[in-house]
Amino acid sequence: MSTTVRFAPSPTGKIHIGNARTALLNWLYAKATGGRFILRFDDTDTERSREEYVEAIRADLEWLGIEPDMEVRQSDRLEMYDAAAERLKAEGKLYPAYETADELEKKRKRQRARRLPPLYDRAALDLGDDERAALEAEGRKPHWRFLLERAQVRWEDGVRGEQMIDTAAMSDPVLIRADGSYLYTLTSIVDDIDLGVTHVIRGEDHVANTGIQYEIFRALGAEPPTFAHHNLLVDADGNALSKRLGSLSIEGLREAGFEPQAVAALALLIGTSLPVEPVRDLAALAGSFDLSVISRSPARFDPAELDGLNARLLHEMTFDDIAPRLQAAGIDTDEALWAAVSSNLSRFEDIATWQQIVADGTPPLDEGLELSEDDRAYLAQAADALPPEPWDGETWKAWTQDLKVQTGRKGRGLFLPLRVALTGRASGPEMAALLPLIGSSSTAARLRERAC
Ligand code: GLU
Repeated sequence: MSTTVRFAPSPTGKIHIGNARTALLNWLYAKATGGRFILRFDDTDTERSREEYVEAIRADLEWLGIEPDMEVRQSDRLEMYDAAAERLKAEGKLYPAYETADELEKKRKRQRARRLPPLYDRAALDLGDDERAALEAEGRKPHWRFLLERAQVRWEDGVRGEQMIDTAAMSDPVLIRADGSYLYTLTSIVDDIDLGVTHVIRGEDHVANTGIQYEIFRALGAEPPTFAHHNLLVDADGNALSKRLGSLSIEGLREAGFEPQAVAALALLIGTSLPVEPVRDLAALAGSFDLSVISRSPARFDPAELDGLNARLLHEMTFDDIAPRLQAAGIDTDEALWAAVSSNLSRFEDIATWQQIVADGTPPLDEGLELSEDDRAYLAQAADALPPEPWDGETWKAWTQDLKVQTGRKGRGLFLPLRVALTGRASGPEMAALLPLIGSSSTAARLRERAC
């Protein structure tokens, strides 16, 4: 049997690295099993769903390298939900309830005061036809609750192994709001059945939901798919990332200049038994991926790891890999510059800065940097000692060795003033590689300008 998975965001906001993890795990599972990946927009909440988020989510997935095989929107499928609801109503599994939010809150307060769990008491099931009619005559509209079996639901989870949820410990869930709109708890199942979803891979915050949804699948006459609940992202202290996820939106990471492959590799690989390393072609991981690689313990997200992965990814790119990007970005750089600076880049766009530093005149000094009078005298001496052309990768060494003998300077005192004068910065790529790119006349001009 071929597999079908889905990623089902609600378009009520932008997706973040945690959502990307769910999407990527599903996508890779489809790749690993030769199955299909469906993008489903859970947009029945018309108050909060926005078209701009639909578009943003599509763009973010594309940036991450995910191409859905199919896209559906719940707002296009209302007739199917109506039919399912009618079926459940006819079988007495979906019942009308009339309590207002205030009335429900009061009930819960009373239960808590008596140290009882705050579960819905099913009072609506005891209403007679007359009472219902009277409530409706008052202008009340019913919401509809699913009658739980109050039983132990068990399943073999694709990640967590054997699971049990006792639906006796839960309130009958509302599947249709008083305004007639559907809740995702029902619509998701109708879609999963209709679309032939074989594996529901989602975050472990949905485990309790799965107990309920199992019962709804069966009430609709369908066998539930395989559920696999993956671990959630936590920060270095083990706290849920949810509060900070805003800053970790995919759009935010893109705008911060990260490579999509670095973001995707980290989102996918943390919290698995696979090594967290830069991956140029994520689909190539399909061969070593199955659900058992996902660990049960939390996935620890460390922003520094993203920086490191990004830098490694850039470092490993050849000039041929990067040339189209450079061209698209209008950065006029040749292979020699890429070779000199790529191992030092933390973001792609930094190449433009180094291109300018090399090609333009004397670069301004970074904030906080200064050259002492002594240093300036040294720069004048250094300009006089510049070796004749042609320059190559050995020139820097020959020049600084000569300066060492002439001035008695060594270490930082020997090298740093030269680096600062020539690049405006206290750190960066190897000077031995930069020097021939800056070239003899520009080097001499920079040293002389900084010398006085
Ligand atoms: N729209 C739901 C969510 O974003 C989907 C959950 C699921 O995958 O079933 O939480």
